[in-house]
Formats: sequence, C-alpha cells, structure tokens
Amino acid sequence: MKKIAPLIATLLLATPASAHETHADATYMANEAVLVVQGDLKIMFDPFYQSGFGTYPEVPDDMMKKVMAQSAPFDGIDGIFVSHVHGDHFDGPQIYDYMQINRDVHVFLPEQGANYIRELARDDDQILKRLVSFKLTEGGAPQKQMRGDIEADAVRIPHSGWPTGRRDINNIVFRVTLNDGVTVMHMGDADINDQHYAPHEEHWRAKHTHQAFPPYWYFGNEEGRSILTQRLKVGHATGIHVPIKLPRKLAVSDYDYFSKPGESRVIYLPEPTDDIGDIGQ
Ligand SMILES: [Zn+2]
Ligand SMILES: [Zn+2]
Repeated sequence: MKKIAPLIATLLLATPASAHETHADATYMANEAVLVVQGDLKIMFDPFYQSGFGTYPEVPDDMMKKVMAQSAPFDGIDGIFVSHVHGDHFDGPQIYDYMQINRDVHVFLPEQGANYIRELARDDDQILKRLVSFKLTEGGAPQKQMRGDIEADAVRIPHSGWPTGRRDINNIVFRVTLNDGVTVMHMGDADINDQHYAPHEEHWRAKHTHQAFPPYWYFGNEEGRSILTQRLKVGHATGIHVPIKLPRKLAVSDYDYFSKPGESRVIYLPEPTDDIGDIGQ
C-alpha cells in the first residue's frame, strides 16, 4: 500500500479541477433541498425555508449549522436556487443572513422572492447585485442567466393545484448546467399537466438533463411519468418533497427518491442517447 500512495497522489494532482469532471454528486438536505457538486462548483436548491409544517422534513440542525458555518460539504457554495416563495421552500430573512455570511454566493430566484430580499437589503448593493431574479409569466418564454460557470434556464410552470389554486405563485422549473458538464433540473412544486410543458418543446430539446428532481407525486401519475420520460426526456429522476410519513405506494415502488437527509446520488455524464433513461418502474 505504501508504494502506491505517491502514485495516487500524483494522479489526483493531475486531474483537472472542473471542466473534465465525469460526474457530479447530489446530496439530499430535506424536503426539496438538494446540494449539487461538480468539481469546484456547488449549488443548493431550496435550502432555506420557514417550516416543513409538520408534514415535510426540515434540514437537520447539525446540517444547517454546517451550511451557516460554510463547513464541508457546504463550503464555497456558488449558487442558491429558489423554486418558489412558499414557506416549505423559501425563507427570505434566512437567505438574506446567508448572503451576508457568504459574500460570493449568487441567488437565483423568482422576482417574487427577489422582492422580499430587496426589502431586507434596502440599498445594500453588495447583496442586491448578487440577486439573479427571473420575471416569468405563465406560458411565457424561458429565460437564461449565467453567472460564472453556472448556466441557469428557467421556465415558469404553474404550481400544483392549477388552474384553481396558487396561480399567483411563480413556480420555476430550473435547468442548471455546471462547468459545461452536468445538467440538473429542479421542478419545485410543478403542476402535472403536459399543456404547461408542450409549448416549450424547443427549450427541453436544447439540452439533455442528466438528473431531474421532480416532486415525488410525478411518479404516481401517468401524465407525470410521461412528462419526465417523453417530454423532458431526463436521464434519471429522483423524487423529492417526500412527506415524513412515507407514502406506502412510494415505499413499495421502485422509483428513486430522497427521503433521508444526508443520502446522496452520483450523477454520471453519459453521452446523450436515444435511451430515455430509467426513472424506475
Ligand atoms: Zn409550494
Ligand atoms: Zn412545497
């Protein structure tokens, strides 16, 4: 063992830090909060929220302490993404606090969320310039924003409950590419209805999504499964927003989902193929 140690060290040093990474890692935090790491780039989706309201898991205290202390694996976070401003996905004051601690992070969020933070930040340009807001309309065109090696595409897909409820909430389906490598999709609480997705066919085809994080209820619904496999053609899907009390149907299914804070998945970067991927049956 001693003999090969120096060789391993050399190989590690010879590995480029970012552009040629062949995989990324996703670590579950709770509810719809996920950390995604590729090379030297790190982003978190929906990490700060007010409450799980007794139904959905909250980020464990020891994990949140690491986030706020910026200790591994939550050190050097480059981007935070907010799907929508519901209390189980968003906490304005907490994001504001975090932006004061992490002076490099960019926060990608719907205009509704940006308005909360702007009110807290007032004329603090150091915070304001790191808000990357998306003004999206229902049925409107996707928008793209880039910060460093983070490429973020956003589409407004109505919140579940459409068309009768929550239409005022701007729910974003984010497609994010890191270092020109892995592409992940976070869907917030997107409504299951292909008519929201169909008009954006060109957008979905523009880039292959290696890994999607749909709300788990997509798996239990035929149209939801079809959206993932036929419309979005995602490589792999891992369900999130799983209640503390695990739904029995999900528990006995083969679908992939996150339910325990700290569990993780490796996201590999295969060449896009005609294989529409395995989202579990
Ligand atoms: Zn919601
Ligand atoms: Zn929710």
